[in-house]
Amino acid sequence: MKSMVPLGLIVATFALTSSRFFDSAKVFRVKPQNEKQVNFLKYLARIKQLDFWHPDSAPHIVTQMQVDFHVSAHQSRSVQTLMEKNEIQYEILLHNLQEEIEKQFDGKRNFTGRHSYTKYNDWDKIAAWTARIAKIYPKLVSRIQIGNTFEKQPMYLLKVGKENVRKKAIFMDCGIHAREWISPAFCQWFVKQAASTYGKDKIMTHLLDSLNFYVLPVFNIDGYVWSWTQDRMWRKNRSKNSTTNCIGTDLNRNFAAAWGTTGFISDDPCDETYYGPAPESEDETKAVATFIRNHLSSIKAYLTFHAYSQMLMFPYGYTFHKAPNHNELTEVAKAAVEALSSLYGTKYEYGPSATVAYPTSGSSVDWAYDQGIKYSFIFELRDEGRYGFLLPESKIKSTCKETMLAVKSIANYILSYAS
Ligand SMILES: [Zn+2]
Repeated sequence: MKSMVPLGLIVATFALTSSRFFDSAKVFRVKPQNEKQVNFLKYLARIKQLDFWHPDSAPHIVTQMQVDFHVSAHQSRSVQTLMEKNEIQYEILLHNLQEEIEKQFDGKRNFTGRHSYTKYNDWDKIAAWTARIAKIYPKLVSRIQIGNTFEKQPMYLLKVGKENVRKKAIFMDCGIHAREWISPAFCQWFVKQAASTYGKDKIMTHLLDSLNFYVLPVFNIDGYVWSWTQDRMWRKNRSKNSTTNCIGTDLNRNFAAAWGTTGFISDDPCDETYYGPAPESEDETKAVATFIRNHLSSIKAYLTFHAYSQMLMFPYGYTFHKAPNHNELTEVAKAAVEALSSLYGTKYEYGPSATVAYPTSGSSVDWAYDQGIKYSFIFELRDEGRYGFLLPESKIKSTCKETMLAVKSIANYILSYAS
């Protein structure tokens, strides 16, 4: 029996359970035209509370970069005035963040307790789903626990592929950044599509016969839970820092890949891009890195899913030097992006992350590459900023369908060429 919950109640319930409220908070977009404007924006970030959506933090800003940031209701008027005084042209992407948060559920937030591939699922639903999907497809899907999060949540990984002793493998993770909800939605979609089209779709059947996919549906579980219950804009994990009351480390700065050296990383635990007290200091990073290290002989590709900005990138992020197989990575990315856009015409940029986006260190994709996984990619899924992290549920299906084509394209290449 379906339970009918009136929309007003749904909105009110979400507002009540979410301790951080974003009523009248705004998201601005600016494109600094010169160094003076870049410096002004960096100054603005120091004197006002700006939550950067793109790039990840203020030091990354350079001339002509598209910069999106969120400002609370009480600061947005003064931020606007300051930008006008300094002749910075801006666009308001979102006028009322709280409204967009509510709208991402398409007015029908799923309270019936049922998991759905075309809706955003909270962690409890996803955890239960990992057990269920392994039960439904026992010959294709199995569940492994690779560790526990800081808050002692079990980290479940799904192994997807036909039983076969010696196989190449592809490792995929979603949801390393908590607020990028479309990413875990894709990992769930992938597992379901792969398992349910085995024996029907020729390419998928061939892939699962010859490859294993290790899929981590939510990397940063504690942060994801927090983004559902307390703060929709949460990004980091939820570990405590010994020196301050500020919570969390950016797990995608916590890997041992030029850790803490380049790309405006932050040693301030209060920052959104805080790299942690040491490489792999975080339980979640440690669990993933340990699993990958233990399976290096089979893992040929590493794919990590983020949002937003529609990019497919590969190493390096920590240097502008080209990766040894740069030309090959460019070709693989190009083919994947072409496959992706063939469905709905969605445009993706591709290339090394330091140049396509901006320099970063301690990222999982650079670390995986330096472990010898020569096909390591980072996806930034939809959109380009109209909704940012608040992509409506109505766009989950099309986003997942097109992304699937890109992943199949990469997997096919791995099958044929990776040694
Ligand atoms: Zn991200």
